[in-house]
Amino acid sequence: MATIFEKIIRGELPADIVYRDEQVTAFRDIRPAAPTHILIVPNRVIPTVNDVRPEDEPLLGHMLYVAKLLAEKEGIAQDGYRLIINCNRHGGQEVFHLHLHLIGGRPLGPMVVRT
Ligand code: 5GP
Repeated sequence: MATIFEKIIRGELPADIVYRDEQVTAFRDIRPAAPTHILIVPNRVIPTVNDVRPEDEPLLGHMLYVAKLLAEKEGIAQDGYRLIINCNRHGGQEVFHLHLHLIGGRPLGPMVVRT
């Protein structure tokens, strides 16, 4: 079963794609948490951070680099932003296709609610 994100990457589902190269595709989150909320997704499925292999290290670095480029393009680099990767149940992961959230455009408050 293809993930929602695989279908977006293949062009089988619509999305507001803001960046694409041979390694990653980036598109706007359908339920944005802030004025800028972009998902940076590897074109090849890695379900969770737990599934990352040593050979994926350049890809993970590239995801961060693309986040930096997109933050500049969105005009949020100077004010700042947050990058998030959720993993499994406690991390609140909903889509099991590794992705980096780029969120910004307003003050984001505390990183995690302290209970
Ligand atoms: P996670 O909780 O797995 O880290 O984040 C999944 C994100 O994907 C959520 O922020 C959710 O709003 C977003 N999302 C889920 N389905 C779709 C979709 O069909 N299109 C887009 N653009 N985003 C989606």
